[in-house]
Amino acid sequence: MKTNPKFIFFTDFDGTITTQDSNDYMTDNIGFGQEKRRQGNRDVLDGKINFRDSFKSMMDSVSNPYPECIQFLVDNIKLDPHFKPFFRWCLDNNIPVVVLSSGMEPIIKALLSSSIGEDAEKLQVVGNNVRARPGKSIDQQGGWELVFHDDSGFGHDKSLTLRPYARLPEDQRPTMFYAGDGVSDLSAARETDLLFAKKGHDLVSYCVREDVPFTIFDDFQDIMIKVQEIVAGKVSVKEAAKQGYELFKAGEAGVKPEGPPREGAKATAK
Ligand SMILES: [Mg+2]
Repeated sequence: MKTNPKFIFFTDFDGTITTQDSNDYMTDNIGFGQEKRRQGNRDVLDGKINFRDSFKSMMDSVSNPYPECIQFLVDNIKLDPHFKPFFRWCLDNNIPVVVLSSGMEPIIKALLSSSIGEDAEKLQVVGNNVRARPGKSIDQQGGWELVFHDDSGFGHDKSLTLRPYARLPEDQRPTMFYAGDGVSDLSAARETDLLFAKKGHDLVSYCVREDVPFTIFDDFQDIMIKVQEIVAGKVSVKEAAKQGYELFKAGEAGVKPEGPPREGAKATAK
């Protein structure tokens, strides 16, 4: 790697850098609506359908011209205000930040640049994409469709991007961080040295269920404090990765230590 970084920070975008999921927002407001979207989420968590098919149907339900979709989201989606200073600190400390997303790259880049300005170009974004439907242009009503990053059931299998870094020789391999909140992060959860799972979200329940070590964050201020401690050698990633389960057992992870942790449990029991 060009700058031989000692650390590299991978992160999910929607619900992790943004305070609200932009694809959910688009589906709920200009697509098939919240009820149908939530049922899709539950079906994914219950293993009835894969994320890829669920997400494709969400995006297919939005027919507005693509530039309109981008503007709609730029007007309505906010980024965690602590992300910008965190990213600035990473730039100053030679820690590359790579966004791994199931969202579409043009939307992610527009949201990032509207919020953090020209530094956004220094962020690497790996996501799904968009193309014109046959005989149409993406500027037309019903003119665009989602293009997946790869053939996996995730649409974007984030582990594919992480693995080449994880397999670098020991003396070149940076310590890898990953931050995420939900279903789209399941493919990445096992691949890094320290996983930050967002308090109260599905990824916490998943890590507990699958015995994946993790720590917890509320916002990028929490992440910055922890990453700085690790970079300064005050805490090891191994120690930090035990904290999530400890907090979960103490009832401080925002999800219930016993009983069904998933929001779908009640709805599917009827
Ligand atoms: Mg997310």
